Amino acid sequence: MKPAPFDYRCPDSLEETIELLARYGGDCKLMAGGQSLTPMLNFRVVKPEMIIDIRKVLEMDYVRQLPGFLHVGALTRHRILETSPVVAAALPIIPETMHHVAHLAIRNRGTIGGSLSHADPAAELPMLSRLLDADIQTRSVRGERTISAHDFFLGPLTNALEDDELLVRIDLPVLQPGTGWCFMEHARRAGDFALAAVGAVVRIEDGIVAEARVAMMGVGDTPLRCPDAEEALLGQAPSDAQLDQAARVACASLEPRQDLHASAEYRKHLAQVLARRVLRMARGRAKETTT
Ligand SMILES: Cc1cc2nc3c(=O)[nH]c(=O)nc-3n(C[C@H](O)[C@H](O)[C@H](O)COP(=O)(O)OP(=O)(O)OC[C@H]3O[C@@H](n4cnc5c(N)ncnc54)[C@H](O)[C@@H]3O)c2cc1C
Repeated sequence: MKPAPFDYRCPDSLEETIELLARYGGDCKLMAGGQSLTPMLNFRVVKPEMIIDIRKVLEMDYVRQLPGFLHVGALTRHRILETSPVVAAALPIIPETMHHVAHLAIRNRGTIGGSLSHADPAAELPMLSRLLDADIQTRSVRGERTISAHDFFLGPLTNALEDDELLVRIDLPVLQPGTGWCFMEHARRAGDFALAAVGAVVRIEDGIVAEARVAMMGVGDTPLRCPDAEEALLGQAPSDAQLDQAARVACASLEPRQDLHASAEYRKHLAQVLARRVLRMARGRAKETTT
């Protein structure tokens, strides 16, 4: 199919973009990498009157290391997140995750701002933003706003942005020394959206879990954090039995959807197996960095 007719603008500055957004609001769609929007246009799932193509707004294309944070401009391509030495040094879980995102051609075009805004519940970057406690920075003619990743994802393909708001930057706190991390997913074919995926970070001090975060995707309407599992790990010695118990707790209340690709039970089973493996790997890496 072909898209419904639309007008097209291609601004080359942030200021012009937010002025256009203020003028056209709900009648327009931003296009970043176009990897999710183009199919939706072609299938006429969306029929905007105006497309604002932001690929020339290069002031949103950067990765910056600051004390304690990584700042990533919204127009940063997936492939940069996969290959940047700055990203790998600050948050090695990001490159570990990125090679699971779609295929190379899509990673060359897709952007972090587009992925978060698209808010697919089985997409890797939204899940990482929840796992890593990211803050999402927005701009509009009304000013700037910070939305925590916790509050950003409202449902499948639904986010907390207003019609006139542009996602401009993602702020990611770097992990403390002694923190282990891991991301694993299961998809039917390489490059497919995952049936289920789990990420974890674990920090161990004096043989005790001092910090634990667990997040999942593909098993709910948004990327999920697992606070019960995190609580079950805190202050405990990270034995195999303790980690396995946390994996069970993480999945106890999951209610995945059944679809053409997998039953709800299978997704739940996958999530628990992956959670067990991910927690063990994160523990191993935490121990490596503390010795
Ligand atoms: C075959 C195929 C397989 C894929 N597999 C995966 C996968 O396994 N995992 C995965 O995570 N993704 C996958 N994707 C999606 C891919 O990662 C997209 O690149 C990504 O979801 C959207 O990024 P984009 O820059 O292309 O956004 P676009 O398609 O340009 O935009 C997506 C949405 O975000 C909005 N938007 C874009 N930028 C901004 C901004 N700065 N502020 C506010 N709104 C904005 C747009 O208006 C639109 O609604 C796949 C895509 C395809 C075609």
